[in-house]
Amino acid sequence: MTDREGAGFDPERKMQFLYQLRQKGVMDKRVLTAMERVDRGAFVRGHFAARAYEDMPLPISSGQTISQPSVVGLMTQALNVQPRDTVLEVGTGSGYQAAILSHLARRVYTIDRHRNLTREAEIAFTKQGLVNITVLTRDGSFGLPDQGPFDRILVTAAAEDPPGPLMQQLKIGGIMVVPVGQSDTVQSLIKVTRHDTGYDYDELMPVRFVPLIEGTARD
Ligand code: SAH
Repeated sequence: MTDREGAGFDPERKMQFLYQLRQKGVMDKRVLTAMERVDRGAFVRGHFAARAYEDMPLPISSGQTISQPSVVGLMTQALNVQPRDTVLEVGTGSGYQAAILSHLARRVYTIDRHRNLTREAEIAFTKQGLVNITVLTRDGSFGLPDQGPFDRILVTAAAEDPPGPLMQQLKIGGIMVVPVGQSDTVQSLIKVTRHDTGYDYDELMPVRFVPLIEGTARD
């Protein structure tokens, strides 16, 4: 990936990009500012890089996808990240979502089952000077018991139910946003809030994500 490959996040493109986000309901100023600071073109490779500023998902390595920017914005907004938060993201993919979280939180842990993807994402974070992100290769459905509990958890692959270990690693008062449903049908984005005595569930919107798959991948 070189800067030449991407179209470049110039001011005009940035304005158009932010306009599209607002149109789709991304209104939170801090989220919009974070998304203005992260060049999506730096997370998309090859000939798709030219389409990085359009509101659509795009293919990345290992048969995975970088999510649609407006969905990234709406999920981040629903997560309501606070500056002192420690956030866990399950499904690093390109690293784009984690880069946005890194501007909003104190510390971000992001995990993917593909070493290929975590390696590339780590290079992109270093290039961009994002030093508060820790990238790990493992099955994210078990979370990170040693680093938790977390203030916020964002799952960017669809589970049939919110994984139990992730529920347990959510702090009291914490929020988890997770797409729930079968991989090949429409899924629902769910916001889980943990209270002293249990969990609240809010259904936010229909979404479509790649499935959360057990175990680590070969690449
Ligand atoms: N957040 C990403 C997009 C995620 S695509 C971005 O900003 O680009 C979903 C990702 O979830 C894929 O990279 C896939 O490898 C990963 N994934 C699927 N099942 C997983 C699991 N059990 N543990 C960790 N990652 C998983």
